[in-house]
Amino acid sequence: MEYDSIIIGAGVAGLAAAYKLSCEGRKVLLIERQPVAGGYATTFRRKGFMFESSVHCVDALYGDEELMRLLHEYGLDKKVDFVQLKDFSRLIYPEHDFVANFNLDDYSAALKKFFPQEAKGIDSLFSRVRDFSRQMRRFTRFPAPYWLKLLLSPLISPLVVKFCFCTAENYIRKYIRNDKLYGIITDIWKFAGLGPRRLSALYFFIIFNGYYNNRTAYIKGGMSRLFDAMVSDIRANGSEVRFNTTVEKIITFRGKNVKGVVTEKAEEFLAKTVISNASGLNTFDCLIDDQAVKVRVRPELEALEKSISATQVYLGLSKPAKQLGMDQFMFSVNSGYDHDKNFSYSQKGDYKNCSIAIVDHSQLDPAQAPEGKGTLLIMALDSFANWQGLDPQEYARKKSEAAKILIQRAEKFLPGLWANIEVTEVATPITMQRYTLSPQGAIYGFAQTVAQSGINRLSQDTCVKGLFLAGAWTQPGGGVHACFVSGLDAAEKALGLLTKRN
Ligand SMILES: Cc1cc2nc3c(=O)[nH]c(=O)nc-3n(C[C@H](O)[C@H](O)[C@H](O)COP(=O)(O)OP(=O)(O)OC[C@H]3O[C@@H](n4cnc5c(N)ncnc54)[C@H](O)[C@@H]3O)c2cc1C
Repeated sequence: MEYDSIIIGAGVAGLAAAYKLSCEGRKVLLIERQPVAGGYATTFRRKGFMFESSVHCVDALYGDEELMRLLHEYGLDKKVDFVQLKDFSRLIYPEHDFVANFNLDDYSAALKKFFPQEAKGIDSLFSRVRDFSRQMRRFTRFPAPYWLKLLLSPLISPLVVKFCFCTAENYIRKYIRNDKLYGIITDIWKFAGLGPRRLSALYFFIIFNGYYNNRTAYIKGGMSRLFDAMVSDIRANGSEVRFNTTVEKIITFRGKNVKGVVTEKAEEFLAKTVISNASGLNTFDCLIDDQAVKVRVRPELEALEKSISATQVYLGLSKPAKQLGMDQFMFSVNSGYDHDKNFSYSQKGDYKNCSIAIVDHSQLDPAQAPEGKGTLLIMALDSFANWQGLDPQEYARKKSEAAKILIQRAEKFLPGLWANIEVTEVATPITMQRYTLSPQGAIYGFAQTVAQSGINRLSQDTCVKGLFLAGAWTQPGGGVHACFVSGLDAAEKALGLLTKRN
């Protein structure tokens, strides 16, 4: 039998692609090497506690914002329950400590109170953010194929185009002179995984708009609830989902047309199209069967810069973190205002000084912890190089040392934290790579620099007819929202080809 499409990987983008194709009546086979769906964005359980393995907060999951709109289009919003977030995050700096909510007016008022001399710059910058927000909506909703939207984008969304060609620093510094204010405004850099000096303004402002100008929500029972609902629907639509199965090879006809895949158990499945949610690097280095294609594409991809990885500490607590002082769902803790310096602390594995995020999902959804207990997640961006090549003992020692430092830093704001820990799990960049096969545990695919953003980001089309890429490594970029869009776009491309062939 020949499938219409085989999807390699049930990360956010792979699931979205399989979902769309199966809803369109196409016969799909979704293959995932893990026993569950979600990739990085999955959830796991330990001793009665449930943890998000990576996600802290997902943008555009509210009202008619893009991700919620897409879920609504497929009726998925009715299959899960949402908890609306009241505030976004407590921002903690050496001389400033305040709560940022989802309202640009409130946020600007708080900033102007701290920095009255910069009021004019704040107003001008935030007015541009509002323009960007309107233009971004216009772009995503414009009723035209993607290529036509791109062609028309200088007219329908000029600011979006402008942001594709400058860094967050280039743009913000036109309006903001004070270094501390600049630091606070760029706090969101960690959600894009790159210091503001090199981070594409496009990705910076998408996230800034997503968290400071729009509300968002969390899914009750964790992100996995959504993924489980999608898997059920894919099966109900007559398509197949196989877990615990690794694709070992993509078969092509002399590297020109895709033919199917072979799994590690030597099962062969044929398909008219294949969408790979594995990284572009793995797809063209390990999976593709044609040596000439490998030799041609590999150097191009190897020259691209990968995003940073992360170390995460997951804690099961004997009481809700709120009782220890976790007065918001998320804390952003920064030892200084210079985020390029903070980024370099992460690159060096300096856990004492790097920026950290502390997140309390059980505050939003108490059912994630046993009754009367709580969970907590501490995240530090981190480099794969800091962990590579360690022998098992050294690795275990370093892991427990890093966790100790991160917990001690959280304890400063949550006195009594140590004494209330029942469960500790730690994931390092090595864990990230091992779980998803994402090279170097990169959390946002290729680094979100200007040269690798917008239309410059790796395309979903490939040089092999019928083979498409989907996920953080491709357009539009990393993060749950972007990956969902990436999967739908890849499915759209596959559908185009399938329709032509019918
Ligand atoms: C620590 C951390 C924190 C994050 N925080 C946030 C956040 O707060 N908000 C947010 O929006 N995003 C966040 N992200 C980013 C977000 O989770 C990712 O960008 C997104 O989930 C990536 O999705 P993806 O579709 O690229 O697939 P991946 O998650 O990379 O999944 C790919 C899937 O393919 C499977 N696979 C790979 N190769 C094969 C093969 N050969 N055969 C079969 N299966 C295969 C893997 O097992 C995996 O399940 C975070 C990520 C991390 C790691």
